[in-house]
Amino acid sequence: MRKKTQLIHGGIFGDEATGAVSVPIYQVSTYKQDGPGDHRGYEYSRTGNPTRHALEELIKDLEEGKRGFAFGSGMAAMTAVMMLLSSGDHVLMTDDVYGGSFRVMTKVLNRFGIEASFVNTSDIDSIQNEIRDNTKALFIETPTNPLLKITDLEAVAKIAKANGILTIVDNTFSTPYWQNPLTLGADIVLHSATKYLGGHSDVVAGLVVVNDEKIGNDLHFIQNSTGGVLGPQDSWLLMRGIKTLGIRMEEHEKNTSRIVEYLSAHEGVSKIYYPGLESHPNHEIAKKQSRGFGGMVSFDVGSAEKAATVLNKVKYFTLAESLGAVESLISVPALMTHASIPAERRAELGITDGLIRISVGLEDAEDLLEDLEQALKG
Ligand SMILES: *Cc1c(COP(=O)(O)O)cnc(C)c1O
Repeated sequence: MRKKTQLIHGGIFGDEATGAVSVPIYQVSTYKQDGPGDHRGYEYSRTGNPTRHALEELIKDLEEGKRGFAFGSGMAAMTAVMMLLSSGDHVLMTDDVYGGSFRVMTKVLNRFGIEASFVNTSDIDSIQNEIRDNTKALFIETPTNPLLKITDLEAVAKIAKANGILTIVDNTFSTPYWQNPLTLGADIVLHSATKYLGGHSDVVAGLVVVNDEKIGNDLHFIQNSTGGVLGPQDSWLLMRGIKTLGIRMEEHEKNTSRIVEYLSAHEGVSKIYYPGLESHPNHEIAKKQSRGFGGMVSFDVGSAEKAATVLNKVKYFTLAESLGAVESLISVPALMTHASIPAERRAELGITDGLIRISVGLEDAEDLLEDLEQALKG
């Protein structure tokens, strides 16, 4: 099955009992048992719910894995995955991970003895040196947020395997439509489904897919024990969004390449970050491991003042955190999504005060270009 077909026919199609072509919303917490312990697959909705199950089957198929899991947010998904580890374990992570991922590792999970350190995983050779005796996982985000850095997933998975450690990939930016980390050797893939998978800025959710039965059983045990599950309404909404992921990603990409072309020629823009650009340092790797480059682009306008002017003047780019939805969004990472990263570290990473990130939506590209034109004139 090709991806666009899989988006519609993957997982569980419709409802056997009634012929409904959409999976029903099972708004239910508990299930009648035919005898004590004798149930029909569902006993309590934290453990399993048919609507959530349909979503979990769908994401499992889309990521070509063995088991799928749905959580109440991307961060709940990530936290559950980290609970596969134990006190004393160490995780080596991509240095410009999502701000919330940095925060949960350094401000919450560290208190439970799970250590994290950060390395530029785009530089494959630097990874091996950072692996410690107690390193149990490599956590990779590619492309990264907001600098769109690319990590070679196949090469990372090879290093991880040689060291007997897990490869975990945050695939939020690429989505399973463009990139499937499990097929490149990763063990676990996770998503903030709040972004492209949902696609309409109306649901917060997280998804995980694993490639191994034992890890799947362990993660289900954690999901059921800690309880950060996604409710049936949101599970349904997410499935509804996922059906159009293919056509949305194609259009996001078309609009983005128009904008990238425009910004590249603009004299007020000093730097532009997009993996689809031939000048991107890891363009060839992006091309090798993904079927598309996505709808996120960052560019530097030189100063915080200039960035503020652009933000004030745009009409069709909504000033907001988040990304991946039908409407174009604009943000200044240093002040917004990445404010929880200390200023010193932001500077090290290149997240300057003049850096603007846009999530290109599905409006007419001409309108978006005209809007950027008038905003950049300042
Ligand atoms: C938004 C985001 C998250 C966190 O997901 P939530 O659904 O907001 O909890 C994690 N990783 C990336 C790359 C994100 O963009």
